[in-house]
Amino acid sequence: NYSVESVLPFLRNEYGQKLAIKDSLRSFTYSELLYRSRVLKDQLVAANNGQNLLGKRIAILTPNNASFTVSQWSAWMCGAAIVPLCPQHPKPELSYVMQDSQASVIVSSDEHQQVAEELSSKLNIVHVSLDNLMNSSVSNPMDNFSNLFPDNLLDLPASIMYTSGTTGRPKGVLFTHRRKQAQVNKVSTAWELTSTDILLHILPLHHMHGMVVALLCPLCAGGTVKMLPKFDPASVWKDLLDDSCDLPSNVFMAVPTIYAKLIDYFDEQNFSIEETREKCKRFRLMVSGSAALPTPLLHKWKEITGHVLLERYGTTEFGMGLTNPLYGPKIPGSVGLPFPGVEAKLVQTDSDGTKTRTIVEATESNFTVHEKAEELEGELLVKSDSMFEGYWNKPNETEDSFTEAGWFKTGDTAKFQDGAFFIKGRTSVDIIKSGGYKISALDIERTLLEHPAISEVAVLGIDDETWGQRIVAVVKLSDKTQEQELKDWCKEHLPKYQIPKEFKVVNEIPRNVMGKVNKKQLIMSLFPK
Ligand code: ATP
Repeated sequence: NYSVESVLPFLRNEYGQKLAIKDSLRSFTYSELLYRSRVLKDQLVAANNGQNLLGKRIAILTPNNASFTVSQWSAWMCGAAIVPLCPQHPKPELSYVMQDSQASVIVSSDEHQQVAEELSSKLNIVHVSLDNLMNSSVSNPMDNFSNLFPDNLLDLPASIMYTSGTTGRPKGVLFTHRRKQAQVNKVSTAWELTSTDILLHILPLHHMHGMVVALLCPLCAGGTVKMLPKFDPASVWKDLLDDSCDLPSNVFMAVPTIYAKLIDYFDEQNFSIEETREKCKRFRLMVSGSAALPTPLLHKWKEITGHVLLERYGTTEFGMGLTNPLYGPKIPGSVGLPFPGVEAKLVQTDSDGTKTRTIVEATESNFTVHEKAEELEGELLVKSDSMFEGYWNKPNETEDSFTEAGWFKTGDTAKFQDGAFFIKGRTSVDIIKSGGYKISALDIERTLLEHPAISEVAVLGIDDETWGQRIVAVVKLSDKTQEQELKDWCKEHLPKYQIPKEFKVVNEIPRNVMGKVNKKQLIMSLFPK
């Protein structure tokens, strides 16, 4: 029984006057957001010479505020897929994403007007600015939400998000509304999101975590999202500790690096544990994901706030995959069992690559252990009703990312113990997880080699308490360029979170006979444990 309302459940008249988003500037009801989205939709089509944008891509460059959601909904009203851009990315990166996704339009807010103008003239595409729209008052808010979105929404493309891999440039991950709906349903069901939830949002919007899990999911439940412009520990603590404001948040989601920084700030400020626990009592859910949550961090967070973080696991390609239970014990270091609609299994492939054996298979409610699972690590494979449609314009890469039987190869190694999965690492050293971001070492190497003084480079992910992994670039230089100069150069050429924290200058980067760097050995020799 498909209806547009089943895909976007906030399209219920009962939610119309409810507060949907409060950002640092303003507050918007669902009705006000939808009204603005409809106005923007007309502007988009007009800017596109009156031609409809059905099936096209619309790039979005906004800060973390309600203008993102308005842009997103207006694109969906057009039947177009959104391509969320990260405002912190340097221009060449933004330009790559827009070209690769073949975006027809870029929507931007005031802050990013100049960059959007430059991109639109360079790529010869339409630019639409939305600040007047966000600032204007609504004279006749809507009381009827029917016919705002195309009838066949379910099968239309919804988004293309970019993710790094071990080969080539970042790939666009395409979702239809059908997959997105499955995504929203599983999160809402497993974590019981409702219209009474008030989520404190601080995550980047060009990622699954920030865009879908922490924003679209609570909105689809009719809840309220309080958006901070960016993460800063003082503002987050202010909100966590403010239980007497008009809109006390009760759900919080972050990555382990953010929890680590919040704990550092807590210690610096000498906050009282007793008071913090008391103020945080109103929270019903605090989630950690996107990277491994170190157990000491889990314990320390519990000690100061009284909350056991719910750790979950996912990827851009299928969204949320595994979760600890909402109720009942959460095993430290574990990511639990599959979400509803997800199947997971661990496999080991023989060294000659011919035979694969299954160690464990699991669904939301059942698991079968085939052999001494506790001693074995394997690659985690996933099937899900929220699996992406494919990498945009990359059929070969899409095919390579699945087994013949249709399982998505996550590239993560895991083990199974005490009825739950534990993520142990990556099958490839070329994927680094730093600050919750998935980063391709090869992408950074490619960029660094453009620096005139860098003749050779190997980029490594080194275990780090705050960052999960910190990025270290081992470089061979052709002159005496200093580390600070390299870092300054990187600011122009790499997104902030991809800039190496450290440059190690060496005379030679050791390579094997095939000319390849053995990164595992290099890590052990430069950073012995
Ligand atoms: P998510 O979808 O979980 O928020 P993301 O948006 O960062 O993650 P990607 O950038 O595609 O998605 O990164 C996915 C990778 O992140 C996984 O393959 C895995 O290596 C890592 N990851 C995600 N959650 C966890 C976790 N709880 N523990 C360990 N690694 C994790």
